[in-house]
Amino acid sequence: MQTQLFIGGEFVDAADGATIQTLDPHDGSVLAEVAEAKQEDVDRAVAAACKASHRWSRLAAADRGRLLLRLADAIEDDVQGLALLETRDTGHPLRDTVGLDVPRTAATFRYFGGMADKFQGTVVPVEQGFLDYVVPEALGVIGQIVPWNFPAMFVGWKLGPALAAGNCVVMKPSEVTPLSALRIAELAAEVGFPPGVINMVPGYGQNAGQRLVDHPDVAKISFTGSSSVGKQIAKGAAETLKQVHLELGGKGANIVFGDADLAAAVGGTAFGIFHNQGQACIAASRLIVHESVKDEFLERLVALAESIRLGDPKDLSTEMGPLTSALHRDRVTSFLETAGKDGGVVLTGGRVPQDASLAAGYYVEPTIVETRPDARAAQEEVFGPFMVVHTFKTDAEALEIANGTSYGLGGGLWTKDLSRAHKVARDLRAGMVWVNSYKRVNPGSPFGGIGASGYGREMGFEAMREYTVPKATWINIDANIPPFYPR
Ligand code: NAD
Repeated sequence: MQTQLFIGGEFVDAADGATIQTLDPHDGSVLAEVAEAKQEDVDRAVAAACKASHRWSRLAAADRGRLLLRLADAIEDDVQGLALLETRDTGHPLRDTVGLDVPRTAATFRYFGGMADKFQGTVVPVEQGFLDYVVPEALGVIGQIVPWNFPAMFVGWKLGPALAAGNCVVMKPSEVTPLSALRIAELAAEVGFPPGVINMVPGYGQNAGQRLVDHPDVAKISFTGSSSVGKQIAKGAAETLKQVHLELGGKGANIVFGDADLAAAVGGTAFGIFHNQGQACIAASRLIVHESVKDEFLERLVALAESIRLGDPKDLSTEMGPLTSALHRDRVTSFLETAGKDGGVVLTGGRVPQDASLAAGYYVEPTIVETRPDARAAQEEVFGPFMVVHTFKTDAEALEIANGTSYGLGGGLWTKDLSRAHKVARDLRAGMVWVNSYKRVNPGSPFGGIGASGYGREMGFEAMREYTVPKATWINIDANIPPFYPR
């Protein structure tokens, strides 16, 4: 297990020797003492990235791509090890980290490895006699700040396009879950990434994160996290006029129409909210169900929720693990009281499980609460296995409820009516919409939100645009330019 900072191609201690404890959310035991980066360490990492920057950006795009493809292979070769590390650090069930998180991380590196030499410029048909070519140029050094909910996957989402486009990166993993990012850095070094191209500086947001935002040599901050911290980052980055890309919170609307395939919708809804203990920005945290099917739908959904197997995430039969930290568990359970004050009715869950074998961990039962659309628990992101339910009569009412929060990240709908599906998808205020499914992601499909969910996009060509600036070069071939000051 790597526990040191990764700077300039080497694993090193923090300058002042500081460390952070990372805990196993299943039982609260100490997993590792990880070096804690502070300002001096971030400055060293940025200096290493600056040093590597020119050469890396001038390397043939296919050679950058080849290294990313090798890293994808190395991650795939180590699925079991990396998945177990992620499970121990985050509490994600092993069946998810083996089956989804780590394969998706590899797939993202592979996608951007293939993208590196296919992302090309253009020639603009300007006036006669000129050739105007536009080349996407790397920005330089990118600061990337990520949260704790999908730590390995976010390394792929953020490093993949930034490196493919020719940038060097200083990433600050979450102080809560730094281990998989350090392991991926180790694999990157093994497959031959030059020193300084990738740097990992786990540390606290107020310190290491803030320094990355303030650093004059960092060209752009790509941030995934809460809307409140996102606002602070945008303000801080204004000081040095850095570009900012913000992937923030969500409050996903999941609309079930009266004509939906209920079996599919129940399964998709449960996956949408309970996968990863609901700790997903695109979680289906608001169920908006047509009154004609409400009773049957909820009966089936509650039965499914109550059958989900909670347990030690290292056990392959476990379907739901603990939340990632005790602090977060307490925040999630506090929403039960909040919902109660607003007149919410608990349909299932809401408690810390009574099973003695889970007592030391950060577990919360799958929870479903019926409440008003304007209740706090229906407006604020809970980020746990906690779903609110509303009912509607007309399509217009469903849309009004769905669009009635400040967020606009993911949303979904279930119907067999093709025309309704397109109309509602068009009118949902969200960056991503799923019809008759929920929470689909793919390295080629743009991922991001609007409103309080942020701006900019991960994945696909959009991510390559995030990490490049178009440079226009005008060549005068044989243009006839009359003198501007005829003499
Ligand atoms: P958070 O905002 O508290 O922290 C995110 C990261 O920012 C961490 O690495 C943290 O150390 C750092 N940070 C905190 N304060 C900082 C500061 N002042 N300056 C610089 N960095 C700072 O979020 P979290 O609790 O780690 O993660 C949960 C949040 O992330 C949720 O709101 C969730 O919706 C959001 N999220 C969004 C997406 C998306 O793609 N839209 C994906 C996953 C998670």
